[in-house]
Formats: sequence, structure tokens, C-alpha cells
Amino acid sequence: MTKDKYAQVRLISKPENMLKTIYTACRTCYSADSPLNIYDCDSAQDEEKMLKLISRVVSSGHYSTIEHVQVSFAISNISRACSHQLVRHRHMSFSQKSQRYVKEKGQFDYLTPDSIENNPELKEKFDAFMGKISEFYLELTEAGIPAEDARAVLPNATSTSMVASLNLRELIHLANLRLCTRAQKEIRILVKRMCDELIKEEPWLKEYLVPKCERFGFCDEDKSCGRMPVKGQ
Ligand SMILES: Cc1cc2nc3c(=O)[nH]c(=O)nc-3n(C[C@H](O)[C@H](O)[C@H](O)COP(=O)(O)OP(=O)(O)OC[C@H]3O[C@@H](n4cnc5c(N)ncnc54)[C@H](O)[C@@H]3O)c2cc1C
Repeated sequence: MTKDKYAQVRLISKPENMLKTIYTACRTCYSADSPLNIYDCDSAQDEEKMLKLISRVVSSGHYSTIEHVQVSFAISNISRACSHQLVRHRHMSFSQKSQRYVKEKGQFDYLTPDSIENNPELKEKFDAFMGKISEFYLELTEAGIPAEDARAVLPNATSTSMVASLNLRELIHLANLRLCTRAQKEIRILVKRMCDELIKEEPWLKEYLVPKCERFGFCDEDKSCGRMPVKGQ
């Protein structure tokens, strides 16, 4: 797990037989044989053969076959701005640190965006501002205001943590959108780390866990970063 100011991410759960499960799902669609026999057959030991079929099925858009595997990540050290972007993905499941039940004590943790970090004068003002917010938050809670209401003054920069789970189809979709250079740096780093954690264990996924332009061979963004030809040009 990389330790810097950005997301700390660890893959905490994935099926042992991921490839075989997807292969069985794919072949079940085209075979007279039962899924159980397909799962137990010799070709379900042959990684190359399994990958060839999976690649054919997935590239033809038959995505239900990759919904059968679910992975979970322990994530910490992300800002609420970043977590808010992540929770927009509707096929993911989340358990996030509550700002109702967990009261901030002393200075709350926060993430400073690089653009502010790299400007010493603004960084100093930013830190001072976070200090002021923290003081007011404490004033509110000490006056008996419940944490669920005092949190109204906490900023988007406040650190948070969560367990996030999703199936492989959604992870590929997430990577396609959030590894794009148009996505904000913090979520790009978070999603890259999620993908890298899984690729360490399942290297065959490397070709799928990429920005959408790499997957489709063109860019469909309004403002292209220029690494791929723009759609229709
Ligand atoms: C660079 C970038 C900038 C963004 N800027 C903004 C912004 O300014 N404002 C803003 O509000 N959001 C913004 N978003 C968030 C974006 O609009 C999506 O909410 C978010 O990316 C989730 O994507 P999704 O809906 O494709 O995927 P998911 O919610 O992960 O769903 C995956 C797929 O499932 C299908 N699906 C899910 N739910 C439905 C449904 N109800 N009906 C039909 N199909 C469904 C769709 O095919 C969808 O693509 C931005 C995202 C990115 C990557």
C-alpha cells in the first residue's frame, strides 16, 4: 500500500476463482453442457483458452458475464470531495465513516489539493482557514450541537474512509471514466490504486482497467488531452 498524502487502498476481498467463474459464465451461454461440467472441465484449467473466450465475449459487449465477480477495497485518506464523486457510481456499495457518529476531536484531517499545496502563500492561508473551521466546529460541539449538525461547517477537503465494493463490470466502467485525464487528480489516483491492487493479483485485467480512450481507440471528451484521436475528427 502506497503511503503518501493520497488515497490508501487495499484490496480486501476477491473471489479466488475469478477467471474460472467468468469463463464458466461465458461458456454457459454457448454450450449444451451444464455450468457445473464446464467449471470442472479441462479447459477451465487453461488460462490462455479462458482469456481468449473472455476477451471475445467482453469485446462483443456481453457484459453480464463479468458481473459475477465482486471485489472490495478498504480506502482511507480521501477527501469528501473525492468520496462524493465515487458515490455517484450507482452500482457500487459503500460503508463510509459517519460524520454523525464519529465526532472530530481537535483539528480534523483534511487533504490539500496540489494546486494549493504548491503555492506556499495560499497553502498557509488554507491551513489557517482549516484551523478556524476546526475551532468553530469544536465550539459548536462543546455547546451541545450534535455532530450531525456541527458537520455542516466541515469542508469538502475533510478526510474520510470507506469500504467500497463493486462487480468487475462496474470496476471497468469506473476505470474507463475516472482514469481519464479529464477526471480530477485525486479520484484518478484513487481509482488507479484500486485497479493496481487488483491487477497485482489478476494481471490479465490490465488491458481492461484503462481510461476509455485506450479501450475504444478514440476520445469522446469535449476537451481532449490529445493522447488519442478525437471521435469524428
Ligand atoms: C470527468 C467527469 C466530470 C463529471 N462532471 C460532473 C458534473 O459536472 N456534474 C455532475 O452532476 N456529475 C458529473 N460527473 C459524474 C457523472 O455525470 C456520473 O454521474 C458519474 O460519472 C457516474 O457515471 P455513470 O452514470 O456512467 O455510472 P454508474 O452510476 O457507475 O452506472 C454505470 C452504468 O449503468 C447504467 N445506469 C446506471 N444507472 C442508470 C439509470 N438510472 N438509468 C439508466 N442507466 C443507468 C449506465 O449505463 C451507466 O453508465 C462527472 C464525471 C466525470 C468522469
